[in-house]
Amino acid sequence: IDLAADLWGTVVAVQANFYQVQLDSKGYSSQEGYPSLLCTRRSRLKKIGQTVMVGDRVLVEEPNYTDGQGVIAEVLPRKTELKRPPVANADRVLLVFALEEPSLDVWQLSRFLIAAELTQLSPYLCLNKKDLIPTVEQQQWRSRLLEWGYDSIILSVAQNQGLEEIKQQLAGKITIIAGPSGVGKSSLINKLIPAVNLRVGKVSGKLQRGRHTTRHVELFELPSGGLLADSPGFNKPELECNPIQLVRCFPEARERLAMGQCQFSDCLHRDEPNCIVRGDWERYEHYLVFLEDAIARQEVL
Ligand code: GDP
Ligand code: ZN
Repeated sequence: IDLAADLWGTVVAVQANFYQVQLDSKGYSSQEGYPSLLCTRRSRLKKIGQTVMVGDRVLVEEPNYTDGQGVIAEVLPRKTELKRPPVANADRVLLVFALEEPSLDVWQLSRFLIAAELTQLSPYLCLNKKDLIPTVEQQQWRSRLLEWGYDSIILSVAQNQGLEEIKQQLAGKITIIAGPSGVGKSSLINKLIPAVNLRVGKVSGKLQRGRHTTRHVELFELPSGGLLADSPGFNKPELECNPIQLVRCFPEARERLAMGQCQFSDCLHRDEPNCIVRGDWERYEHYLVFLEDAIARQEVL
């Protein structure tokens, strides 16, 4: 494999056995930017069981710029691989919540943060609709979430405040955007990528389901560089983890465990003696509730 001379690209969409590949800049240049080719995969790849996912880095052969077609000949090993949404090589999760309308639900936020932590990608937290609450309250939220171990950026998509910072954060990376419905995710994507034009606002239940039952994930190219994936709209992500994995999803607990250890190596941090995780941190209560779910799940298995 010659990374310098060959034609490389990133898979941005998958439909059945066809792969839309966005070519790297050095491959070919045109006025509208760099073309994407609709590719098939070499049968040799099929034979060795090499799958192709959105986000994969691939070698393209036999490019036909007139018909916009090509063939995928190689797939580079994945840095990361997500199941939901199915995306390879994602760098981070952009978690969007609203400060108001809908009002910020700490349990829901906690659940999304844990789901993001479980992907092993670092969550980047955006609190939208700052225009709807006073500055003092915005800062109170930010301090409260800093106590949880998360910095956040406070923005207003509608008023174009904070968008530049987000653009900088997304440049050159593959980012998955997630968050409950109604917080402004579509509005944000439309502002970041004007060409996309996602439906914003009140969508009927039927249409909403329609959009999200499609299993297709698509990577949108940001004008400033980088790729963005819209994840299926869900308000309550499943936390499929065991108790050990769960405790590692809390920065507050990680911090305590970095400073010492519990008396029992299999401590679940409930009422065991000499536990260093149990304490008066705000989300300890969340931990206990999610722990019950994790234990119940283990008993089923
Ligand atoms: P999604 O479900 O997360 O994709 O949210 P949408 O982008 O569809 O936005 C839901 C509603 O919030 C729409 O009516 C938007 O116009 C509105 N909205 C988005 N951003 C802002 C904002 O910064 N401030 C206010 N007040 N409303 C916003
Ligand atoms: Zn403990």
